Amino acid sequence: MRILIAEDDPAIAAAIADALRQGGHAVDHVDSGAQADVALRDSTHDLLVLDLGLPGLDGSEVLHRLRQRGSGVPVLVITAREGLNERVRVLDLGADDYLVKPFALTEFEARVRALLRRSASKGTTEVRIGRLRLDLPGHRAWIGDTPLELTAREFGLIEALASRP
Ligand code: CA
Repeated sequence: MRILIAEDDPAIAAAIADALRQGGHAVDHVDSGAQADVALRDSTHDLLVLDLGLPGLDGSEVLHRLRQRGSGVPVLVITAREGLNERVRVLDLGADDYLVKPFALTEFEARVRALLRRSASKGTTEVRIGRLRLDLPGHRAWIGDTPLELTAREFGLIEALASRP
């Protein structure tokens, strides 16, 4: 699997990148929110590990933009911010799981495995052809980052065409 780490603390980033690589994953690392935003637009990752306290663009904003674009990539938030309200806020923004620093690497690895298992069991729900992207269960479509306003019949037609590109 290909995993993006967005974390500006070099020691934490190195530790979790090592753990993921030893788990057989390909790892990309960025250390600012703006870089994370760009990387998530240009490439397909199977999982995002997201620190909230990123310089420049906050991790919450990265997550908000990611979900606004309709991406369903699993997101594991790692943060020093504690508290019930904060956890609720982050999960409502579209995070799939949440770890408060400092955390044990074994727990981090277990949560990554759980998220990847969950997303693998969902199967293929997204179709991409060039700049066109379809969310099949959600009946939504985008060209690049722009959502398309489609009727159910139009979505059915584009889905049928996309299945035979
Ligand atoms: Ca940070």
